[in-house]
Amino acid sequence: MTAHEFTSPVTPGTGWPEDPATPATPVARDADGVRSGAASAGGLHELEARVSVCRACPRLVQWREDVAATKRRAYADEPYWGRPIPGWGDPEPRFLIVGLAPAAHGGNRTGRIFTGDRSGDWLFASLHRVGLATQPTSLHAGDGQRLIGGRMVAAVRCAPPANKPTTDERDTCAPWLEEELRLVLPSVRAIVALGSYGWDATLRTFAALGAAVPKPRPKFGHGVDATLPKPSGGTVHLLGSFHPSQQNTFTGRLTEPMLDAVMARAKEVSDV
Ligand code: SF4
Repeated sequence: MTAHEFTSPVTPGTGWPEDPATPATPVARDADGVRSGAASAGGLHELEARVSVCRACPRLVQWREDVAATKRRAYADEPYWGRPIPGWGDPEPRFLIVGLAPAAHGGNRTGRIFTGDRSGDWLFASLHRVGLATQPTSLHAGDGQRLIGGRMVAAVRCAPPANKPTTDERDTCAPWLEEELRLVLPSVRAIVALGSYGWDATLRTFAALGAAVPKPRPKFGHGVDATLPKPSGGTVHLLGSFHPSQQNTFTGRLTEPMLDAVMARAKEVSDV
C-alpha cells in the first residue's frame, strides 16, 4: 500500500469501520450543536467522531434507526450501523467525491459511504477502471478496498427517506461538510460532484468558507469542468457527473464510459 492508498480499520465481527467516537464524544442535538461541534472539532478524526453520533435531525434519526432495526430481508442476519456516515478516505486527498446522502441499506448498513449498494458498485467499478481505487467493488469496511488519493463525503450524513432530505435537514447538516472541506481542501485539486445535489452543496460550502464563487454560479451538467477558487488560495476543478443511481444507470442516462470519462478527468487534473 502506498502513502495515498487509503483504507480504514474495522470493528471486529461487524464489517463496520472502527468506531471513531468514544463515550466522551459530544452529541449534537440541534442545528446549533452541529455548528458549534463542527467549529470546535479541531481535526479530522474528532470531526468524524462527532458526525458519527449526531442526532440533530429528529426525522432522520428515527428513519436511520428504524431501517437499522427493521432491515431488508437480504441483510436480516447483518448488524446495521444505523448512524451518520462520516467522510472516508485519504485525510490529505487529491480528489474528493461529493454525493447526496447514504443509502438506507448501503452506507446506513455498512457504516461506510457508497458501500454495499448499487450506486457504490457503479462508482467503485469506475474508480477502479481508471486507477483511483484498488478494487472494483465496495462491500464492507473489511473488504480491503482502498481509494488512491481520494476521499468521499456526503452532503447529508444520514440516510433520508426516499433519498430526499428536507431543506432544513440539508442546512442543519451543512457545517459538518464545511468543516471537513476546510480541513482537506488545501491538498484537493479536483472535486467530482455527483448530481446537481452534490454540485450545489459544493458551491454552497465554498461560499460559506469565504471562497470567491463565480457569479453566476457554474451550472451543473454531466462532464462540466468548472474552475473554482479555493477559500485559502489556489483553484480546484469542479467536475459534474450524473449520480450513479439506478434511476440513471438503468435508463442509460449514465453509462460506464460517461462515468469513466469524468473519473479519468479527475485523475488527470489531480495528478494521482
Ligand atoms: Fe446530524 Fe447531519 Fe444526520 Fe442531521 S443529517 S442528524 S445534522 S449527521
